[in-house]
Formats: sequence, structure tokens, C-alpha cells
Amino acid sequence: MKSCIVIALLMCSCAATGPEVSGIRALPHYSTLSLNERLMAEEIMRKALVSDRKDYYFEKLKLLINTPSATKETTKEMNISHFNRSVAAAKEHKEALAKSDVNLAEYQSIEERYEVAKPRKWVKYCPHKFSNPACFYYSAEDYTDILVHINIRLHGPPDLIAQELEIEDDIEKHLSIPGFNVNVVFTSRSGNDVFEVGINPAEWSTNENFAGGTITSSHEIMHLFGLNDSYDRIENHAGNPYVSVSDRLALFIIQMDDNQPVDAEDGIMCNSSKRPLQREVCEVVHGGKKCIDARIKRFGSAPSVFRRWNASLA
Ligand SMILES: [Zn+2]
Repeated sequence: MKSCIVIALLMCSCAATGPEVSGIRALPHYSTLSLNERLMAEEIMRKALVSDRKDYYFEKLKLLINTPSATKETTKEMNISHFNRSVAAAKEHKEALAKSDVNLAEYQSIEERYEVAKPRKWVKYCPHKFSNPACFYYSAEDYTDILVHINIRLHGPPDLIAQELEIEDDIEKHLSIPGFNVNVVFTSRSGNDVFEVGINPAEWSTNENFAGGTITSSHEIMHLFGLNDSYDRIENHAGNPYVSVSDRLALFIIQMDDNQPVDAEDGIMCNSSKRPLQREVCEVVHGGKKCIDARIKRFGSAPSVFRRWNASLA
């Protein structure tokens, strides 16, 4: 029944027409698309034909269809390589700190100690977004001194879980900027305040799959806090073989109706290697303009640099 509906939609008079459309349908890979994928391609073409970016959309759709999905083995190699680099960097970082005058144990437990250093009012918030229906905690009475606590239970090969634990502190340090600290707790317990996350390197990283190392896990944790991506999904994924064709087509459609914020490229929701922007921090705690203004007044609006050890936090 479902297939009949799809075929009927494809054959109906609302199907896109024109030379660009015929060109897409004539691509050899087009014939390998599933019915659902063809339906999404049709939707893209219908929207593209009435857009002033028509040529761009058709060029990117052609790229997408001509870029088949990578095999699971290739995806696994790519993810494991990123993961290994992160673990090696974490090891180097720890060795460098151990040789410095910094107390390594104190440095690594900044977030854990800071959140119990004084009484705080905690809010339990459940984004009910994406497919991880769990809650995290935040303390934001003072927008210039925000703490966030998230519990995550990992599922996957024991060796990869052990590697994720190795990079836990680097994830916290990547997410934390002045006046915004994140305590990530990997736990073995379950509950409505524990996010269940897999580690499957054969699949692209998502908020349900921490497969790509420190900066990727950091970006995905921001998703668990409820934030959306702010990169251009067409630019980033049309030709990305590590994302399935079906997912790329769905992301393409979303992007056609979305605008990238002007400062997106400076923030972690666009570029995982960047730190959270003030507006992204404030979105985590639903602080709005009041929060953004308070934080910019205190810290400035420039993207933050990696936070240095600060003994006053102890
Ligand atoms: Zn994302």
C-alpha cells in the first residue's frame, strides 16, 4: 500500500518537469534510488525550479546522486582514525600537564569539583528532541557562571567505550568556556536523567552515536542539550559519502527552508572544532537576550580560546 502511494505521487501531474529535471532522472545512479529517495529528489527539484538558486540546487543534487554511500568498512576506518587521533591527543595533553607545574588530577576534576563547590539551584531539563528522550541539569542563576551536568550511558565495543572515557576530560574542556562549565559523566546506570548513546564507528556520528572522537562528541552533546546544527547541510553533506543518500536528501530539503546564522561558522554547532558561542551557551539554559547581553558584557562576544588552568576555580 505504501509503495502504491509513493508511485502515485511520483506519477501525478505535480511531478517536476524541464531539462534540469530530465538531466537528474537520466543519471545512472538515479535508477538505484529507492522509491522514498526518488520522492525526496522530486521534492527538491520542485522547490529548486521556483527558487532563485535553481542552478545551485540542481548542481548539488547532481553531486549528491553521483556520490554513493561509502561502505561500512570505509566509514569505520575514517571514524576509528579520528577516534585514535583524539585519544593520542588526550594522552599527549595529559603527559604535557604531568610535566608542568599543574596538578593533573586537580585539572581534570575542575568541572566535577566546581559543581559542588557551593550550593546551587539546579534545573532538570528534558529537551525531548531528536530521539534521546532524557534530561540533563543546569544551574544558571547567574548567566556569567553557568554549569551544566549531563549523564551518558555508552553502548558499544568495550575497547571503544574505554577510549571515550579517555577523552572525557578533553570533551569537557572543549565545551567549557569562561562562565560556562560542562560536567560530562559517563555512567553505567540508566534513568530518565541518563542519555543512552551508542558507539558504532561503521555509521556517521550523531547524537545517538559518538563515533568520531573529542570534537565530534562535544558537538553531539550540544545536540543532547537541544541545539540544532547551524552548518549548511547542503554544502557539508551533498557530497559526503559517509552519510547515507537517504539522510543527505532529507538534510537537503531541511536546508532549502533554513538560513544559516551569520556567525554560525564561529560556533560549535557549525564547526565542531570551534567552541560554543555565547548565544549557543544561552540557548542551552534558555536564557535568551538577557543571558547573551550579560555574557557579552562580562566576556565579550569574540569566540573563546581554549580555557587555561585557573587555580581560583579549585
Ligand atoms: Zn550536528
